[in-house]
Amino acid sequence: MKCPYCQKEMRLGYIQCRDGINWTPKKQLIAAFSYLGRGKISLQNGASIITKSAVYAYNCDDCKKIIISYNDEEECI
Ligand SMILES: [Zn+2]
Repeated sequence: MKCPYCQKEMRLGYIQCRDGINWTPKKQLIAAFSYLGRGKISLQNGASIITKSAVYAYNCDDCKKIIISYNDEEECI
């Protein structure tokens, strides 16, 4: 993947978290309760299908940007 900022090739790696990788519209006060967040998106892109504890992520070392593609639907809690 080419970096959208500088057009150089990005390095593929992982972002991992024991309890899953989540995007939330508001900062969660307690990380352990992050599953309570409304509008949470659980990020998955094939790096860890069973545990959901890792996603592939592209890193641009020059721009200090990381891009994560995900294909999960928004969860309704
Ligand atoms: Zn870049």
